[in-house]
Amino acid sequence: QTVARAVGVTKLYGKGEAQVAALRSVDVEFAAGEFTAIMGPSGSGKSTLMHTMAGLDTLTEGEVFIGDARVSDMSDKELTLLRRTRIGFIFQQFNLLPTLTAQENILLPLSIAGRKPSKDWFDRVVGTVGLAERLGHRPTELSGGQQQRVACARALVSQPEVIFADEPTGNLDSVSGTEVLEFLRDSVRSLGQTVVMVTHDPRAASYADRVVFLADGRIVTELSEPTADAVI
Ligand code: ADP
Ligand code: ADP
Repeated sequence: QTVARAVGVTKLYGKGEAQVAALRSVDVEFAAGEFTAIMGPSGSGKSTLMHTMAGLDTLTEGEVFIGDARVSDMSDKELTLLRRTRIGFIFQQFNLLPTLTAQENILLPLSIAGRKPSKDWFDRVVGTVGLAERLGHRPTELSGGQQQRVACARALVSQPEVIFADEPTGNLDSVSGTEVLEFLRDSVRSLGQTVVMVTHDPRAASYADRVVFLADGRIVTELSEPTADAVI
């Protein structure tokens, strides 16, 4: 089952001489329960692909679907609702609110939408990211790796159709980075979630189910069941 799909997506920035093609006719699908790493050199279009698929940026040509919803047809109001309820986000800088506890941060996007997770699902998510003992702590009382695990729980708790992670290990030391990759993989497996991760982290290839390489706005290679050797 495909949960997110780009069909012939082209994204141009600027005009005339200064025009840049950030994406050139990209076709890609992400299946339910898959953990995909999007890799490639700086400027290859990774962020643009993620932003257009998440309805954060408009396309020049093509279509994006989240489930059966055509993102390019949506109004701003519909896009905001889509991002709040059907997509999860994980950022390099964690983006936690400093005055809220871990538990309050995890529940915030859902409570803004007037919803609550079932207790069962909340407990499973918190268990998967290993935070049960830290729910009452504020971000400043947590390590970087723990803060990113709170951010992962926040993305997982609404059971979104797809989670987009933008360099989730980019701000972490190597041990915490490995932990984050491990529990992203574990949450995909045990909670049946779908994660699309943009990353420069060479270790990501050994955790993901699939690696999509971009170069100059095009998909150049796809590897299934990648190994670390394949990208080094
Ligand atoms: P990556 O995430 O792989 O580093 P990006 O998607 O950020 O690549 O960028 C792809 C290309 O689009 C680059 O050439 C970049 O300079 C250009 N680009 C990205 N965002 C903008 C923007 N807002 N305005 C103009 N050019 C942009
Ligand atoms: P709000 O006005 O409440 O921030 P938005 O429509 O801006 O609503 O954002 C909805 C959701 O989309 C946010 O909860 C956030 O997770 C995500 N989001 C917003 N801006 C960005 C961005 N630049 N990059 C990635 N995700 C974003």
